[in-house]
Amino acid sequence: MVSFKRLVYYGTEQSPGLTRLSAQDECIDAMATTTSAPTRFTIAGDGIAGRAMALGLARAGFTATIIAPDADTAIEGGVQLAPNSWAALQHLQVDDAARDGAVPLSLMRMLSINTGHSLVQLGLNDRPRRSPYTSMTRAHLMACLRDAATATGQVSWINASLAEATTSNGRAQCTLDDGTTHNSDWLIGADSLNGACRHYVEAQDASAIPPDLIARRVAFRMVVASAELPPRFATRASTVWLGDGGHVVHYPLADGTVNIVAVVAQSPSARARVKRMLGAHASLTPLIPHLDGAREQPLFDHLHLDTYQRGRVVLAGDAAHPMPPHLAQGAGQSLIDAASLSQQLSRLEADDDLAPVFTRWTAERVRAIRSIRASADRAGAMFAMSGPMARLRNLGLSTFGGPMLERQLDELWSS
Ligand SMILES: Cc1cc2nc3c(=O)[nH]c(=O)nc-3n(C[C@H](O)[C@H](O)[C@H](O)COP(=O)(O)OP(=O)(O)OC[C@H]3O[C@@H](n4cnc5c(N)ncnc54)[C@H](O)[C@@H]3O)c2cc1C
Repeated sequence: MVSFKRLVYYGTEQSPGLTRLSAQDECIDAMATTTSAPTRFTIAGDGIAGRAMALGLARAGFTATIIAPDADTAIEGGVQLAPNSWAALQHLQVDDAARDGAVPLSLMRMLSINTGHSLVQLGLNDRPRRSPYTSMTRAHLMACLRDAATATGQVSWINASLAEATTSNGRAQCTLDDGTTHNSDWLIGADSLNGACRHYVEAQDASAIPPDLIARRVAFRMVVASAELPPRFATRASTVWLGDGGHVVHYPLADGTVNIVAVVAQSPSARARVKRMLGAHASLTPLIPHLDGAREQPLFDHLHLDTYQRGRVVLAGDAAHPMPPHLAQGAGQSLIDAASLSQQLSRLEADDDLAPVFTRWTAERVRAIRSIRASADRAGAMFAMSGPMARLRNLGLSTFGGPMLERQLDELWSS
């Protein structure tokens, strides 16, 4: 276990429970403490990945400062968390708190929008390795991670935005939006898929839109009170409706709402297309009145990176491995990033060099993500089929889809 634990207190402001400091204070502090040489981490991004990484580092004995552009804004909707995500939450010692706001789902099923027939069903309580499979509001997950990180006393927040990340003189250097710089030993880039950290690791001009940022699909996200929908939407199941060129997913959340995501090809008429898709089966038509309020989110295609590290900048979460949502693994893999790094750092002796750990960890994560991403891409391509291919898909799924799905998910969730 690393011996350098350091508690820092700064002038606080804003959000209850969070210690926030100004960028200026932090620069002064960084300069004043260079001689005591505790290993300092900065994390860009206060999303699921950023908070999980901060918690994972704290559990391994390190201090971390999160650069967060905003105080907690309303975080809508939910995520499904599979057994592999729960194993990571357990390692981060936040599983008990997380469980309080989780809905255990007992069934995963795929249905045809054209016929309403069930194509595949997977019992989630059947085998220990398929459980727990849950839904959870994003707000609950984020709050659990924040509270656990705060309780360690080793995580603090800077209210600022990262403008540029670089490595200078063997240290990570952040230039913040107010022009000040913030130095640390390592920078974890959890500032998402088009953030400054990914630009740095990819050696791209931060002002340019990367050529891989093309959205061929778009998701429409809705959160609707269960009371406004027929009771079947509250069934404790993850339900996927497969249509002609698109699909709809819904599952219940613990706050009495239903999380709904509809995905179709990106086009100016995408919303109208979703409306037609919802109108194609009576079970889905109750969702149509809620479509006007749906949040539209392009699903960008991304190059798979060969490394998540450049110098002292290391990527995590969507910044490292943006993932199509079709296997519900993006947030889960962000938690696994944090848990696996934490595990490796915990094994270090005091004064051990961290560089080989990052080299090994990023190589392992790149390898693991490659196959998960490939499976998610395959699922996305299958969900997007239209015309005769969609009919063939439905036939295939209803004939031999069950064992195929079981094999694939059991392997994924035990990884
Ligand atoms: C439709 C849909 C459904 C999904 N469903 C699931 C699911 O069921 N299960 C699952 O596991 N995953 C799911 N995902 C994936 C999951 O949402 C993401 O993988 C996860 O949110 C990634 O977290 P993150 O922290 O890496 O990125 P984000 O949540 O994007 O957070 C990035 C953070 O970086 C901050 N940031 C950005 N720029 C800067 C800057 N310049 N300086 C400082 N901070 C900055 C942002 O403010 C934000 O707080 C889904 C995704 C989509 C699109």
